[in-house]
Amino acid sequence: MNPIFSALSTSVFEVMSQLARETGAVNLGQGFPDDPGPLDVRRKAAEAVVDGWNQYPPMMGLPELRQATATHYQHWQGLDLDPGSEIMVTSGATEAIAGALMALVSPGDEVVLFEPMYDAYVPLVRRAGGIPKFVTLRPPHFGLSEEALAAAFSPRTKVVLFNNPLNPTATIFSATDLDLLADFCIRHDAVAICDEVWEHVVFDGRRHVPVLGRPDMRERTVKISSAGKIFSLTGWKVGLVMAAPPLMKVLAKAHQYITFTTPPNLQTAVAYGLGKEDGYFESMRADFQRSRDRFAQGLTGLGFSVLPSVGTYFLNVDIAPLGESDDVAFCRKLVMENGVAAIPVSAFYDEAAVKTVVRFCFAKRDATLDAALERLADLRRAGTAA
Ligand code: GLN
Repeated sequence: MNPIFSALSTSVFEVMSQLARETGAVNLGQGFPDDPGPLDVRRKAAEAVVDGWNQYPPMMGLPELRQATATHYQHWQGLDLDPGSEIMVTSGATEAIAGALMALVSPGDEVVLFEPMYDAYVPLVRRAGGIPKFVTLRPPHFGLSEEALAAAFSPRTKVVLFNNPLNPTATIFSATDLDLLADFCIRHDAVAICDEVWEHVVFDGRRHVPVLGRPDMRERTVKISSAGKIFSLTGWKVGLVMAAPPLMKVLAKAHQYITFTTPPNLQTAVAYGLGKEDGYFESMRADFQRSRDRFAQGLTGLGFSVLPSVGTYFLNVDIAPLGESDDVAFCRKLVMENGVAAIPVSAFYDEAAVKTVVRFCFAKRDATLDAALERLADLRRAGTAA
């Protein structure tokens, strides 16, 4: 067995969802919305599976989806992409990340990672032969600094794997941070693999700024997006990859030997969905923002110390003011005794540099959020009594 995988434990998302199923807890752990997703997009997928082509689609993706992707990102992010040579469809963003690491990293190359980070990153980097170099981000702002980047980059840096908006922190890197990162990538001749799956889930009027559009980053950025996140259909696993032709050629080689292709009916439906009117995206954001505010107010009212959330489906609380010092123990007790599943943010750090932040998914119906708040109120009452 390969030791990188045999030494791994089951993903924290699966562990918490399983505990939630076993205990009947309200599941605010794994990030997925209660809402079933846009009916018209789901209908397109259903129609396409009944009436459409169900044999292998082209390896790079259906032409209509590649064209719709170019049009969508021109409209929303001002990117000028050639659908024929700069866009590829994968079976989810995680496939795109795995493929990009396999395609770009050779054994011994260093890969700069920003922790807290999505749990798939480190094993995928190691399996590609890369040596992870961490930039440790800390609450409440989780921002970059020149010193931290200087300590992580070296002449052996080949790739940076960058997630913005950032899961689990629910923060967005500033324009200054993006410029700083671009500057380091250019100086070290590194490629930025940018996991931008949360790009449409941003609040308070914010607009996502893609690294691919930064000056001098056009030729050294792989942009990765996710239809699952764009349309709140997290099970669909349709990833969109954008990169300049020299990079795309090698990314395509990895994709052709991982999944080769992605279900055609989902591609047809995503092509349709990407062309939806602005109002759809605005109201999707407004709905999530309203849930964020409802849950944040509830938590604050119960005396939780809520960290700012400006994007993603997540809200974090700092449990240190409650006298707690172990987020894993806190989450275990919360699910077993109080009936609410959440995610300990230490799971997103290589060496648990931060141990007192707990992540909740607020992309839920009001009744789900209110049920969780009631259970959290019980926890607070028990805490006060103790
Ligand atoms: N992206 C989801 C989250 O952060 C988890 C996906 C998964 O379960 N692998 O909750």
